[in-house]
Amino acid sequence: MTAETARATLIDGKAFAAGLVDRVTAATARLIADRGIKPGLAVVIVGEDPASQVYVRNKGERTLAAGMRSDTHRLPDSTDQETLLALVAALNADSGIHGILVQLPLPAHIDTSAVLGAIDPDKDVDGFHVVNAGRLAVGLPGLVPCTPLGCLMLLKAALGDLSGLNAVIVGRSNIVGKPMAQLLLAESCTVTIAHSRTRDLPALCRTADILVAAVGRPEMIRGDWIRPGATVIDVGINRLPSRDPARAAEGKTRLVGDVAFDEAVTVAGRITPVPGGVGPMTIACLLANTYTAACRAAGVTPDSLDA
Ligand code: NDP
Repeated sequence: MTAETARATLIDGKAFAAGLVDRVTAATARLIADRGIKPGLAVVIVGEDPASQVYVRNKGERTLAAGMRSDTHRLPDSTDQETLLALVAALNADSGIHGILVQLPLPAHIDTSAVLGAIDPDKDVDGFHVVNAGRLAVGLPGLVPCTPLGCLMLLKAALGDLSGLNAVIVGRSNIVGKPMAQLLLAESCTVTIAHSRTRDLPALCRTADILVAAVGRPEMIRGDWIRPGATVIDVGINRLPSRDPARAAEGKTRLVGDVAFDEAVTVAGRITPVPGGVGPMTIACLLANTYTAACRAAGVTPDSLDA
């Protein structure tokens, strides 16, 4: 007789994101019909980075598909900071634009924090402005970074009330780890943030009811770091060579997370796959933030986007 291996329930981010996009699209249609307000998202890209070009094209298409206005500003790599700041100022002043996203990374000669800091915080749909970081820290309404917001939605859909749960977040970046910690603290989790200097990371991870991995190191978090039954949210997006040597020789890659999925799935209670977990939530939350920003700009209470 072979021992049956338990398998975690998969948290289907792709399906959840599709539902959220449907709700945002419906709410957008109501906002247009009832108030004559069409949410508008401006995306600014500087330079020719191929991955960024793909992301920006995708964002534009998804924005239009949700019934919103989409403006894309493509600037050459040689663009100077003053020109970029002038564009941000013009978008801040444009009442038809409710969300502004500057695609990162910017070329090295541009001061990224100066550009992000120039965006009107109420149009900062990426949630990276220090004003929005501050609002999140003190519990004021603001715009929350899309990836951690998406993780929180998945956690609440999977677990319901999160209060009292031990959450360990591996990674302390301003775009994922720190805002994730703030969001889980606001849900009354007991939150620990781990990073590259954390001592005995495996033992710390084993204390987690909720383990969020946002490290950028392929499959770093092993199955035996996970408490049996824990909920694992894998934010990592890493490209490794294809498992098939012939395809790998052609440069073909596969996506893996920061969690060793094949091990983790036998220990965790619930887990997000990569791809198809957190990834699709990011663009869905960008659309949700744009809708929310458009409502707030008009003094309209946004419709609930809950499932
Ligand atoms: P950063 O590189 O900005 O941050 C990584 C964090 O991981 C840092 O805090 C770093 O610690 C920590 N870290 C690195 N190595 C270790 C280690 N050996 N042990 C413990 N902690 C470690 O990454 P991001 O937060 O931007 O992204 C994290 C991952 O999430 C990436 O794979 C990225 O591709 C993915 N991502 C996915 C998104 C999506 O789903 N749409 C969106 C954004 C990111 P320290 O601070 O000490 O250096």
